[in-house]
Amino acid sequence: MIKLHDLYFKPFISEQEIQIVVARMAEEIANDLGDKIPVFIGILNGSFMFVSDFVKKYPKTCEVTFIKLASYEGLKSTEDIQRLIGLTQDLTGRTVVILEDIIDSGKTLEEVHRIFRNENVKELKIATLFHKPEAYKKDFKLHYVGIEIPNKFIVGYGLDFDGLGRDLPEIYQLKTTQHMTNIVLFGPPGAGKGTQANYLKEKYNLIHISTGDVFRNNIKNETALGMLAKSYMDKGELVPDQVTIDMLAAEVEKNTDAKGFIFDGFPRTDAQAKALDELLAEKDSEISAMVALEVDDEILVKRLLERGKTSGRPDDADESIIRNRIKEYYKKTAVLKDYYSAQDKYFGVDGVGSIEEITDRLSKVIDKL
Ligand code: AMP
Repeated sequence: MIKLHDLYFKPFISEQEIQIVVARMAEEIANDLGDKIPVFIGILNGSFMFVSDFVKKYPKTCEVTFIKLASYEGLKSTEDIQRLIGLTQDLTGRTVVILEDIIDSGKTLEEVHRIFRNENVKELKIATLFHKPEAYKKDFKLHYVGIEIPNKFIVGYGLDFDGLGRDLPEIYQLKTTQHMTNIVLFGPPGAGKGTQANYLKEKYNLIHISTGDVFRNNIKNETALGMLAKSYMDKGELVPDQVTIDMLAAEVEKNTDAKGFIFDGFPRTDAQAKALDELLAEKDSEISAMVALEVDDEILVKRLLERGKTSGRPDDADESIIRNRIKEYYKKTAVLKDYYSAQDKYFGVDGVGSIEEITDRLSKVIDKL
């Protein structure tokens, strides 16, 4: 991932892939043109890298020149009018091949055709490395197209974002979601995830999603989801994966402008962790870290029984249900430590101490992300 000005871009087309396509285009055009010595005309600024690589790969004799698109204000209209400048050579009777880095709406191409109408060239061919068919609004024939791409903003290989990125040898695509900090707050039941999430969400301006809380809300409102979840929660068992994953996805979708999330009580299984990765990948994002509160089992049982006196949660009131929740944690959830460790994203934090002490420990990890 790269940052240009204040926006993030992700890798899209590799240098190697571009070089293969440029070589293919050079070959194809050389075959079509036979013995003619063409004049290749690059449109500045974007095409400089493409033209340079292209002519190096062109196997026969050729001429190369450039023209540039310039903007100026029309006298009567405030509309920005684009003009091509720099064409000084006599092209009468020549075979001209326009080399464009990208053709999207086709506006530049229209200007090219307007100018070449008076040039008496023998033939005018259009070759473009990239083409966005979805954005193309004109009827001009594109004789050679390197790669068709979706209608997304790209930079690199001559193409810029507000002046930056032209020098990159590969192509990057604008990320659909800008940078997010996504934290999995992890730990067994009673570790203090909910308490800490409430502090951290304020401090880091993140959205806190507690799957346990969402289930309890659904139970309170007597929804179908709530009734289904209750049958599992009352026994201290996990709610089935697909139900939980769909619910979590819906919660994430409710917060399209989020700067990031604290996931509390999710993921709890391998399948949930994979689903979360996929969900975030669709948003061009990922989990930044799993931060785990580490607390001894017997302390957990004591804490939960204590909380049960006031929380009103049936699953906090009974020691055997509490022990079952902890057992479920070790059986299905603890493995996630390995899942995130393998990606270097696991950070364990001592979960015993005052609330402030523990917030401090967690913040030290988050500040470094
Ligand atoms: P919590 O409030 O996180 O302790 O969750 C309370 C109960 O809600 C759990 O014991 C499960 O029955 C259910 N639950 C919460 N999150 C999940 C999840 N990610 N997967 C399955 N069940 C969950």
